Amino acid sequence: MDDESKTVLMLRSLRCCQRCVLRYLGRKNIHVYANPLESCPSLWKLEDGEGGPKQASTDSEVVHNPDQAEQSELKSEGSKDGEICPACLGILQSLCDERTVDKICCDVEALNYDFKTYMLTLTLPLQLDIRQHCLLTHLNEICKLSLKSTDITPIKDVFKWVCGRLFSYRFKVKFSPKSSFEVGLSFEHHETQGEVDTLYDEITDKEPAHKRQKFWKNSHKKKEGPTKQLIGSALRGLTSRHLKRLLPHPPVIPQSGSSYSIECLHESVFLAGRYTKHSRHLSQTPWILEGERKTESSVEEHICKPIQEALRAADYRFASSGREDVDVRTLGRGRPFVVEVVNPRKNIVCVEECKGLQEEINKRTSDVGVRDLQIVGKDATMKLKEGETEKKKSYMALVRVASPVCQEDLDKLNTDQEIVLKQKTPIRVLHRRPLATRERSVHSMTTERVDDLNFKLFLCTQAGTYIKEFVHGDLGRTQPNVGTILNTDADITELDVTAVHVDWPPELDDS
Ligand code: ZN
Repeated sequence: MDDESKTVLMLRSLRCCQRCVLRYLGRKNIHVYANPLESCPSLWKLEDGEGGPKQASTDSEVVHNPDQAEQSELKSEGSKDGEICPACLGILQSLCDERTVDKICCDVEALNYDFKTYMLTLTLPLQLDIRQHCLLTHLNEICKLSLKSTDITPIKDVFKWVCGRLFSYRFKVKFSPKSSFEVGLSFEHHETQGEVDTLYDEITDKEPAHKRQKFWKNSHKKKEGPTKQLIGSALRGLTSRHLKRLLPHPPVIPQSGSSYSIECLHESVFLAGRYTKHSRHLSQTPWILEGERKTESSVEEHICKPIQEALRAADYRFASSGREDVDVRTLGRGRPFVVEVVNPRKNIVCVEECKGLQEEINKRTSDVGVRDLQIVGKDATMKLKEGETEKKKSYMALVRVASPVCQEDLDKLNTDQEIVLKQKTPIRVLHRRPLATRERSVHSMTTERVDDLNFKLFLCTQAGTYIKEFVHGDLGRTQPNVGTILNTDADITELDVTAVHVDWPPELDDS
């Protein structure tokens, strides 16, 4: 008898399903897997001739019976035993057909995602790798073969060949390996999970103490639990005698089939724009102190909530080019920001949609205004943070002084020469920032007298300069400061950011 016939008979006698037999024969033709019974009749005839296990009527019955509950019902009625394939744990045998695909598609549709293409990712039980190893060893020994694991067609490939076409047909969209929408199927088989635990324990806990210590030092896998890589290296590293002591060769025939769960994920969508802030009672991000909200809303929420709702997203992440204090307004063309929209169920695709979204944000609040809202790439957050400290920002501060000043005094402040400040970490942020002295530059200043005790100070500075501290001096912690230059005490009554000089994202004409 030839090797192929021996393989077929051996695997069938061990209750392997027809698709798994074809896998072990290394078949790569997609079509043979769609209907193995009809595509390779000569293979299955062997069984009759050799008086092996009966024709594969069990297969065809199980194939149309993917529901686990129904399966166990069938069993309790005394159906044929050994009907779950020990090589694929029922995945290719009873969960790889039109009916299962239909069920999965219904579940995906219920999640209400918009998608134009899709990709499929499968997570298989780790014990399948162990079982393949044991079955292969057994097969090679008994039938005197020299099959290698790389000769075997992977379960994932077969599942995708058979079901991929059905998914595409049912979803009415194309499969694409680079799709931004992913349908994730995770298969589990609890009954045989112990096989993974056995092998895992063997290579971790049971090692001699000195070796275990080394293992602990070299990896943190113990904490992570068994991984495909770890199981793979254990199977390669342990001798076949050792493995035989640990695990049954051939693997035992399970009583139940595998189950699966579905998780869908859409790649993040990134939106960028600029915001202005018109309130002196609004924090940039939610301000929560000891579990209590200090401000009702925040710039972040005003911008992100409408976006999250419109795109039916699971979450969002907000980032901006610097930030302003609660009592500081941001005017002019505003401050650049990026929103990462996490796992959106609706995809935003066109300029009009962005415009509509921007209008919606602006309609809901007068405290925050958004412009230039646009779709940007994944690297947006990086672009935003790039060279952040070199950037320039312009401010208008309303300054109050202790003794009257005339325009001549104020002229001391007017300059287009760079002034380098030495700023110790301000007292007001010492609780969250380390104590340090930083150098920051004031690029230019002009003043406008309001009355004897008040004037407007317009400044352009390096990003990250503490403006309030430059005005009042922070008990001498910022040098020089407005007070030392004017030779009086100065305080700041109001502060506005008038420009953030960053040319990203690109300005849009009709904003
Ligand atoms: Zn199988």
